[in-house]
Amino acid sequence: MFGNLFEEEEEEGFSSLSSKGRVVKGVDEPPPPRGKSNLCGIKNQGGTCYLNSLLQTLLFTPEFREALFSLGQEELGRLEDKDKPEAKVRVIPLELQRLFARLLLVDQQSASTADLTDSFGWNSSEGTNQHDVQELNRILFSALEHSLVDTSGSAFIHRLYHGTIVNSIVCKECGNVSQRQEDFLDLTVCVCGVLSLEEALWNMFVEEELFEGNNLYRCAQCDRLVTAAKSAKLRKLPPFMTMSLLRFSFDFAKFERYKETGRYTFPLSINLRPFCEPTDAEDSDYSYELFSVIIHKGGCYGGHYHAYIRDIDELGQWEPPVHEPKLQEDDPLSILMAIISQVLKELVLLDQLGQKLMDKIGSSWSKKFRKQYGPIGKFLQSHSDVFMLVSNGTRVALKANLPSPDQHNEPPTGSHWFDLNDSTVTSIRESDIEKQFQGKESAYMLFYRKTQLHRPAEARNNPQYKVPTHLVQRAQEENVKLQEMREKCEATNNTVELCLHLASSYRLENGALQPVGKEPSENPALSFDRRKTVGDLRLAIYQMQELWEGDMALTVAKSLPAGLHLYNTLTDDNISLNSAGIYNNTDLFVWNGRDVIAECIYEPLVFFFFLILACMTVCEELSVRDAGVRLMTTLTLCPGSSPRASQVRLFFFFFFFYLKSSIKPFSTCSCIKTMFFSQCLKAMLEAVGLDGSCWHLRKLDWCEEVGEPLMDEVIIMNDIISIFYVL
Ligand SMILES: [Zn+2]
Repeated sequence: MFGNLFEEEEEEGFSSLSSKGRVVKGVDEPPPPRGKSNLCGIKNQGGTCYLNSLLQTLLFTPEFREALFSLGQEELGRLEDKDKPEAKVRVIPLELQRLFARLLLVDQQSASTADLTDSFGWNSSEGTNQHDVQELNRILFSALEHSLVDTSGSAFIHRLYHGTIVNSIVCKECGNVSQRQEDFLDLTVCVCGVLSLEEALWNMFVEEELFEGNNLYRCAQCDRLVTAAKSAKLRKLPPFMTMSLLRFSFDFAKFERYKETGRYTFPLSINLRPFCEPTDAEDSDYSYELFSVIIHKGGCYGGHYHAYIRDIDELGQWEPPVHEPKLQEDDPLSILMAIISQVLKELVLLDQLGQKLMDKIGSSWSKKFRKQYGPIGKFLQSHSDVFMLVSNGTRVALKANLPSPDQHNEPPTGSHWFDLNDSTVTSIRESDIEKQFQGKESAYMLFYRKTQLHRPAEARNNPQYKVPTHLVQRAQEENVKLQEMREKCEATNNTVELCLHLASSYRLENGALQPVGKEPSENPALSFDRRKTVGDLRLAIYQMQELWEGDMALTVAKSLPAGLHLYNTLTDDNISLNSAGIYNNTDLFVWNGRDVIAECIYEPLVFFFFLILACMTVCEELSVRDAGVRLMTTLTLCPGSSPRASQVRLFFFFFFFYLKSSIKPFSTCSCIKTMFFSQCLKAMLEAVGLDGSCWHLRKLDWCEEVGEPLMDEVIIMNDIISIFYVL
């Protein structure tokens, strides 16, 4: 019935498949370094997110972590000796120490728990069969305690987590009190029918249950059935109080399990005194604060766990989470406030504001708000309680004292909360916890720590604090290795293969550069680091070409059917090849920058730009809007009736840098939409009276950068106005 209860749904990026996929990419690929949070996640080994959430919670329980680290190898043995029969090696605490040290100190995005789960004796099927995280908490604690018997650590779980409850029954006749004490490492609290943790605790530890009527209590002293009151109280409070929420219930009518998704609040800090046996202790002895929330997302037959954890020692790098506040698109006030507040502390130019508004809502002020609210300047003026216009009304800022939606720069103290979700660790706000009060994704386990527990100043920002030296050393060695791997990988990734075309191997023919004699494979190749500068490259080529004299120009080139085509010349020696746009397999024409080229690049290579303007013919029956005519659409008046649906009319004209006598500057020709590009090209050439076979079509983008040549594919031109370049 509960078999696959906690089987994990395939989650984007968290599945075992994706981590396997990474491994396939290459043995040498180094694991990615830590992200912005500077905290290390834990890999999902396939349905182990429940384990990951719990381990991170324990890691961020400094007192737990330090108690574990305080156990030395003289007590636990050494992992290196674990296969020696005579050696007593306590594998579980040792593996946990290693994992914690790596999570604290090794610069990688996520660590693996494979060695730890091996130490639990889990086989692969147990890894993938999700356990309940509440159950796992108990299993893990009991495995640790068992493993630490007869060491100085044998009692540390007990010391940190053990509490007691006392159950009492008071005889209403003789006043005899019968008591039974119960131990706990975590408290299971009701969710069904209650609205908050406090209410659940009230029901458990304040309300009395009466034995009366048909349900009487047998008092040992009175030796008969009597009315009596039953109650429970917390007797001993542990330093760490773990609350397991009973979100999963069983519906006996339907005979199925279900998840309680109703609203259930819990406080950031709580005083447990009302739920305890009366004592004369200080109030502060009862005060707790929340530091971890394990969240279950999904239904009761599958789901995913992650944890919101407070980074008590401030080991991570907390930064305000970037989350787009949901805009109320029809409220110009909130939209403008959001835009201005994103440009932190700066004055926004009114012109820019218009552009940003456009980016944000995809519509201009004039179009969306002007009719209702008037010009934007007036609108800002009329909200002088919110906006401040300066520099003669050309710039605007938010009034300083205003609580703007995104203005939380410095985290308030004690608010270093992170969302630890398998490999991913991201900053969150304390207020995000409220999102986990209800729903399919909601809090499942709560971890409170005694407010009295203070952390030493030297532990702050210090992940090495109390980590045994041999583990620190081990982590440092691993970091050196990772660093080397990353540098090597980076160098490989930045190496580009360049093909050099020396001017001496080319001659000008029909207005294009044609290779002389040599096979293309004989062009010298050069491997070079893209991070180096153009000057470095030039120097390297000088060194290769010992006989070179005078200046050397490097021009990006491309081998085309019509010959070698030249693009931009690299002029700035100080920029990197990266910035110069040099990629792998770039062709470079190496020449003196003067002779051959003066004729060939600027004159004959560039003939015409053909603009195909009337691809989209506006049909008379369509409304202007339906025809897709928008602001700035160019419409051209063409002779004759519009082409049939299967046709496109190509209307093209050209700017000529090089004009042959009989070419008409404007021309049209009709093409069938499903023509091949080659047929289309032929029609265009015929229309302007050109012949020859050394022509091809290329698409230009809107910046008129020459793009890829168009291959012989079926032409489909009814969707966009395209520009072609003919060589
Ligand atoms: Zn009695």
